[in-house]
Amino acid sequence: MVRPTIIHKSPAQLRVPPNLTKLDAERSRFSWAAARAELTELPGGGLNIAHNAVTRHARGPGRDHVAFRFLSGDGVRELTYGELESLTNRFANVLGGLGVGRGDAVYVLAGRIPELYLAVLGSLKIGTPVSPLFAAFGPDPIATRINLGSGTVLVTTTSLYLKKVARIRDRVPSLRHVLVVPDEPDEPLPPGTSDLPALLAAASDDVAVVPTRPDDLALLHFTSGTTGTPKGAMHVHEAALTHWVTGRYALDLHPDDVFWCTADPGWVTGTSYGIIAPLLHGVTSIVDEADFDSERWYRILSEQHVTVWYTAPTAIRMLMKAGPAPALARTRPDLRLIASVGEPLNPEAVWWGQEVLGLPIHDNWWQTETGGIMIANTPASDIKPGSMGRPLPGVEAAVVQRSDVGLTFLPDATEGELALRKGWPSMFRGYLNEPDRYARCFSGDWYLTGDLVERDADGYFWFVGRADDVIKSAGHLIGPFEVESVLMEHPAVAEAGVIGKPDEMAGEVVKAFVSLKQGFVADDALRLDILGHARRKLGAAVAPKEIAFLEALPRTRSGKIMRRLLKARELGLPEGDTSTMEGGAS
Ligand code: AMP
Repeated sequence: MVRPTIIHKSPAQLRVPPNLTKLDAERSRFSWAAARAELTELPGGGLNIAHNAVTRHARGPGRDHVAFRFLSGDGVRELTYGELESLTNRFANVLGGLGVGRGDAVYVLAGRIPELYLAVLGSLKIGTPVSPLFAAFGPDPIATRINLGSGTVLVTTTSLYLKKVARIRDRVPSLRHVLVVPDEPDEPLPPGTSDLPALLAAASDDVAVVPTRPDDLALLHFTSGTTGTPKGAMHVHEAALTHWVTGRYALDLHPDDVFWCTADPGWVTGTSYGIIAPLLHGVTSIVDEADFDSERWYRILSEQHVTVWYTAPTAIRMLMKAGPAPALARTRPDLRLIASVGEPLNPEAVWWGQEVLGLPIHDNWWQTETGGIMIANTPASDIKPGSMGRPLPGVEAAVVQRSDVGLTFLPDATEGELALRKGWPSMFRGYLNEPDRYARCFSGDWYLTGDLVERDADGYFWFVGRADDVIKSAGHLIGPFEVESVLMEHPAVAEAGVIGKPDEMAGEVVKAFVSLKQGFVADDALRLDILGHARRKLGAAVAPKEIAFLEALPRTRSGKIMRRLLKARELGLPEGDTSTMEGGAS
């Protein structure tokens, strides 16, 4: 069903006038060079994310303003910008004391505890690239990612270390230091680890921020492709400029805002917008350490006086499923903007926001490689439910078709690949150790996103699907190859092919098709055993939810498993061109 456009109130009717009111005018006026004035250079020259996010506020009138309010089972812990400055300095000095510097890489594997935030910002201060990993990953994805980036330091908790890292420690030879945060006071320290709180307490809280250059490596975010290992997208300090600009235009941040980004920093949204963008704007961020719970989330929105809320379609769908009663049981007079990202947002969800929460949901689009929001519904344009919105100032987007001779730019209302013109500051600068894979993402001046879209006559972009086989489950991008490789390690599995199966709540869930080696019987006990194996190795967020047994998997003549065909058969769709299939028509 086509949902009607949502017309925004005029700025004059709003309590807080939006930062962006005329998108076209702002797009023509905007330049990245001019926006650069919003960031502060280091005293001796150079640009550093953490200096802009923390130090400059700590040295100014924002010193006593709350930067983070952590909500956990133990209560509430607030850190002001001044406290964050001193604690991140301490973390930087802990690294310095261990001889860790610019040539190293720090990884963080933790829930949303304060030390995660100290580790990210403290590492950036001394120019050490940092990579937060999703704490729900199993041991295999953790080992793969640490090895890809030759991680030298891991910050984690005692329980995560014992459950996931201890058994892969001998598979990550680059790792020199493991700094653990005990889950309980007086917990014994696992052998081969150091006590992070003790090190922080002993360290000096004064540090000189290293004069990083705008294009120095700052953050590593892993993402998935159809084939091969995960890709380590490399982001630089200059990315902060995109974070600042999009925080202003797409998230409409104002100095007194209480901002809540529900994403985990193990995914790019939780770092770009759960850490960096709100700090650049000097606002207060809520960090909820617990997992999704509809009652709890409504309580947080209301009791924490959240003004701007950045969340994800799966979460919105779960709130919709919980029904309107818990939403209507509380008021949210402070809430002014809701935005969401990461997967398609159903038009019904946009209207549900309007009707039940009193505000529409502003869908926006970006991906790990873009480092920040590129296309968005903003307060400046009416919302067409189901559309991702329009390119932000500083972003030039096109719909193209690739061929050997270059790009063809497609007219409106034609499906093609979404391309972005190079030049925005948070564009990834490489895939770790894979220059060719990086080069293949570009054609001339254009970065090719791998997403299929259409643009309408008003310049709104509409998501159609992915051009490749990656799976989006509850907003998390999952590479089929990583899952298939682990399934193949099971002694009974001869072949494995993995697809995203549409799911009402999570968008897609991982479904695996396997064929068995001789002598194994395809029964429920074996299915459970393979599922258990995958969950132990990959973690629940990545492992398949379903496994089906097949006699043999369809393959191309060159031997590749035809996931497209598995998916078509699963969905009862036409099988398309099968001429390249093993045994198919020639
Ligand atoms: P990630 O790199 O994990 O952030 O995933 C990025 C991918 O998520 C994009 O390439 C899209 O396929 C998908 N995605 C992100 N935002 C949206 C959106 N608003 N609508 C549809 N798909 C989206």
